[in-house]
Amino acid sequence: MEHRYTDLEACSVDPAAPLVIVDVDEVLAQFMRGFGTFVGRHGFELRVDRFALFQNIYRPGETQHLDMIAGKALFDDFFRDGGEDLLPAEGAADALADLSTRAGVVILTNAPEHGRQTRARWLKTHGFDYPLVINSGPKGPPAAELAARTQGPSVFIDDLLPQLESVAATAPAITRFQMVSDERLRPLAPSAPDRHARIDSWPHLKAAIAERLFA
Ligand SMILES: [Mg+2]
Repeated sequence: MEHRYTDLEACSVDPAAPLVIVDVDEVLAQFMRGFGTFVGRHGFELRVDRFALFQNIYRPGETQHLDMIAGKALFDDFFRDGGEDLLPAEGAADALADLSTRAGVVILTNAPEHGRQTRARWLKTHGFDYPLVINSGPKGPPAAELAARTQGPSVFIDDLLPQLESVAATAPAITRFQMVSDERLRPLAPSAPDRHARIDSWPHLKAAIAERLFA
């Protein structure tokens, strides 16, 4: 928790520029695909048949998923050791690089503290060299704080409906976009497109963000 406030306080936002607040997993990074590779290297398999994480890991050939504790342990290990397995979402780096010429960009990710270094290194390596705020829990309050630092408009991008709802509740002036990078998760992800536009391709998402921020 301590870091969360340090990150937020330390994060500088251009007070005159529009702001893009963006999630990592399933938005900048192909989380499910990477986690599946990681889980596979540990002798298990990830079956994407529901929008969940720990309930999707199986021993090969078994029909009962791995128990929650073992699943959570793999998940925790992935944040520390799985950087190599994680691939960037297609088009994300180019889109943000383009938007960042006219807007501030802040990466707002929920990750365990032990994954901080791996995550920071991964982001830099893949062209996402923007201020990083590691958060835990609802993203509405930190998004509201960041957006309050600029007079320009702000947008928020996440794959998870509860996070989009949190931002809508805490900072309704921030325009929300939902992006789900994994093709298998797309039909399973809960959405509310009337409240948060759902756009799963970065070139299209970039255009919609630009229209909102620069029009
Ligand atoms: Mg995410």
